[in-house]
Amino acid sequence: MHNLFSYSATQLLPTKLFIEPRGGNGRDVPRRGWIEVVCGSMFSGKTEELIRRLNRAKIARQRVEIFKPALDTRYHLEDVVSHNANSIRSTPVPVAQEMLLLAGGCDVVGIDEAQFFDESLIDVCVQLANRGTRVIVAGLDMDFQGRPFGPMPALMAVAEFVTKVHAVCVCCGEIASYSFRVAASEDKILLGETDAYEARCRPCFLAGMQGKSVVEAARRHEH
Ligand code: ADP
Ligand code: MG
Repeated sequence: MHNLFSYSATQLLPTKLFIEPRGGNGRDVPRRGWIEVVCGSMFSGKTEELIRRLNRAKIARQRVEIFKPALDTRYHLEDVVSHNANSIRSTPVPVAQEMLLLAGGCDVVGIDEAQFFDESLIDVCVQLANRGTRVIVAGLDMDFQGRPFGPMPALMAVAEFVTKVHAVCVCCGEIASYSFRVAASEDKILLGETDAYEARCRPCFLAGMQGKSVVEAARRHEH
């Protein structure tokens, strides 16, 4: 009988895609593409999660390419580096379209700091997935003012899988979804984030936005 119990546990779990990477690789299974988005605030573990998924694909002997926008040169030009110093080799690209050429023949494409690409990234990801590539996109879902960031909202709409990861609020220890900018600058893009940004929960982010100097003074007083 074809009921719920005739399916194996792994068939029921969408996370199987992340746990057990598969690409067909020209064997008996035709290669299928899809889009995964890993989003969240700064320090939420987006790059760690991207590296984890890509390393597993490499273990499965899949052909993997990692890209990041050429403007993100914080640590190393050709590495994707997480805040706990995990890293993976990557190719910086000035525009999203370059990935269509560079990713030819790849089973899996990883993209970090996706929020810094323009809206053309959405079409590029869709094209890659349509031609059979697993696309894993990591990026900030919100900017330092809590607004949806660049192509991320649309990418989340077209993705098969969206994972929102969370940091820890540095003010109160709750789950953090916001990147609070400590440095005084109105530029949307401000690199070197370890000093310039803090992961905060909603109330602590709001408090900071409304009365930054008061909150900052109170926190300095505590330490
Ligand atoms: P993201 O790419 O989302 O900015 P990373 O993957 O580079 O994040 O880094 C995640 C790591 O950052 C964590 O494993 C932890 O070691 C470190 N970290 C530093 N500050 C925080 C914080 N406030 N909350 C959670 N992790 C933090
Ligand atoms: Mg990151």
